Amino acid sequence: MLPPLRNPYTSPTDFNDLAKDVPAFAPFLRSTGGGRASIDWQDDAAVRGLTSALLKRDFDLEIDLPPDRLCPTVPSRLEYVLFVLRLALLTADTPSTSSTAPQLVGLDIGTGASCIYPLLACRTLPPTSSSSSSCSPPSPLRMLATDIDPHSLSYAKRNVACNDLQERIRLFEVEQEGKVFPDEVVGGEERIDFTMCNPPFYASEEEIASSLAAKELEPFAVCTGAPNEMLTTGGEVAFVSRMIVESLSLPHIRWFTSLFGKYSSLSPLVALLKHHGIGNYAVTALPPQGQTTRWVVVWSKGGRRFPPELLYPSSFAPSPSPSSSASLTRLLPPSLLPSTFHLPHPCTLSTARAALEGVLSELVPLGKEGALEWSWDEVAAEEAEQDGDGVAVRVRARRNVWSRAARRAAAAAATVESPAAGASASARQAAPPPLLLELRIQLLPSFPPPPPASASPAPHPANEPGPVRLVSTWLSGSPAEPDAGRAAYTGLWGFVVRKVGERVRVADGKGATGTEGEGEAQEETEEEGERAGKRRRVEVGGEEA
Ligand code: SAH
Repeated sequence: MLPPLRNPYTSPTDFNDLAKDVPAFAPFLRSTGGGRASIDWQDDAAVRGLTSALLKRDFDLEIDLPPDRLCPTVPSRLEYVLFVLRLALLTADTPSTSSTAPQLVGLDIGTGASCIYPLLACRTLPPTSSSSSSCSPPSPLRMLATDIDPHSLSYAKRNVACNDLQERIRLFEVEQEGKVFPDEVVGGEERIDFTMCNPPFYASEEEIASSLAAKELEPFAVCTGAPNEMLTTGGEVAFVSRMIVESLSLPHIRWFTSLFGKYSSLSPLVALLKHHGIGNYAVTALPPQGQTTRWVVVWSKGGRRFPPELLYPSSFAPSPSPSSSASLTRLLPPSLLPSTFHLPHPCTLSTARAALEGVLSELVPLGKEGALEWSWDEVAAEEAEQDGDGVAVRVRARRNVWSRAARRAAAAAATVESPAAGASASARQAAPPPLLLELRIQLLPSFPPPPPASASPAPHPANEPGPVRLVSTWLSGSPAEPDAGRAAYTGLWGFVVRKVGERVRVADGKGATGTEGEGEAQEETEEEGERAGKRRRVEVGGEEA
C-alpha cells in the first residue's frame, strides 16, 4: 500500500483564499465577477507571485527566481513528481506501508533555477518522525539534480539552502555536449530509483512559434524561458534518444522517465525503445492543467513491470476523452494492460477462489525449491472486502512448472525420485534460481451490461452464483531474460484460466473435458486445446494468453 501522497490541487485554486493565506499575493488579484478572482496570466510578476504563494502555503517552500528564467507552474510540476514517486514506491523491493517508506534516490535532469522537482519531491516525502531516536529522523528520499547552466544552478543552490534541504538534494553542473547521465553524477550511487526530466522541448525558434499558435505551450512560460530552457539540438526527441542509449549501460537505475511537450514525439521514442530490446516501458499523459497536456515516457531494464494503475487516462476504465486514451493505448506494450478472462459458467466467488487455489496447489509439488509459490494478497483482500468485490492472489515462479513438457518431466521424475533422495537434499540447499515471473490474479464479480438509462447495476450477492472474471497483471519478469519472462507470463496465465474454467464446470456438476489431478487427463490434444482456446474468450489488453 502506498503512503498517502498529498495533492492540494485536485480542485481549482481559490485565489481569494490564497491571498488571505499569503498576503504578498493579494496585489495580483483581479476580480472576475461574482466574488471570484484570478490573475492576469500575461503579467510575469503575477504568475511568479502565484508560484511563490502556492509553494509557501502548500509546501512551506521559499524560492527566489532570476527574472530571465522559466517560472514553473506548481500544480503541473507536482503531477510529475507524484507520478515518479508513486512509480518508485509501488515497485520498490521493500513494499512500503503507510508508516515505513523505503529510502529512495531520485535524479532530476535539467533542474533549472527553481530546482522545483527536487524541492517538491522532498516536501512530498518528508522524513518520517522517529519515535526512538535522539538522532535526526530517517529521510525517505534523496535527490540528485543536474543542469548545464551555471546561472540557474547558482539560484538552485540558494533555493535548496534556504529551505534547509542541503542534506537531501545534491546539485551538479554538467556539460551540454557530455553525457546526460555523467559518471560523476550517477556513478557514486549504489541504486537510483527514478530519473525525471523536463527537457528543452524545441529544436528551433520556429517550432516554438508554431507550438504557441497550436496552444501546446503554456503562454506565460514563453515570456520567461531562456534559450537553454526551451531549445536543444534536435528537440525533445533527440534529447531523450540520448537518454535511452545511455540507459542501456546503467543497470543500477531502476526507472528512466521524461516529460514531453508534443504528442508527435512519443511514437519515435517508443520505436527506439523497441529497437533496443526494451519491452518494459509505458507512455502516459499526466492529468491536464488547463489547456496543456504533458506526456511521460517511462522505461526500465529491471524486472519490475510498469504498474498499469499509474496510466492516465486509465486505459481500462471509461475515460472522458476516449480518443486520447485509445491513441495512447496503441503505444503501450501489449503485455502491460491487465488481461481479463470471463469464467464460462456462473459461480460464486468462493467456488472460483477454491478452483484457483486447487489449480495453483497442484502446480507447487511439480517443482522444487520454491519453483512456484503463491499467496492471497491480504491487503488487496481487505480492500476488496470493504468494496464488496474480489480477491487477489500473487504467484511467484522461479521455474516453468505448468507447460505440458514441464508437467511431463515432473511426472517422469516422480517415478524415479526415491534413489536420488540424497542428491535432491543437497540440491535443496543450493541458492534458489532467480525469479522468472511474478503475477497477480484477481477474482472479481462481473457485471451484466447496464440496462439503458438505469442506475448502475449491483453486483450479484456473494453467496449466489453469478458471472465471475479473472484479471491478471504481470508484476515482474526476469531482467536477464525478458523474452522468457513474457512467454512464462502468457503461458502460466493461459494454463490457469483453462484449468480454473474446467474446475468451475466440475464444481457445478456440468462435467469437464478432463479430470483434474490425473496426469494424462491434463494432456490436451491439439484439437481440444483449440476448442478450449475458443471457449476462453480472453479479452486481452494485449496478446492472447
Ligand atoms: N526542471 C525545470 C527546468 C526545465 S527547463 C522545470 O521544470 O521548471 C530545461 C532545463 O534543462 C534547463 O535548465 C536547461 O539548462 C537544462 N539542460 C539542457 N540540457 C541539459 C543537459 N544536457 N543536462 C542537464 N540539463 C540540461
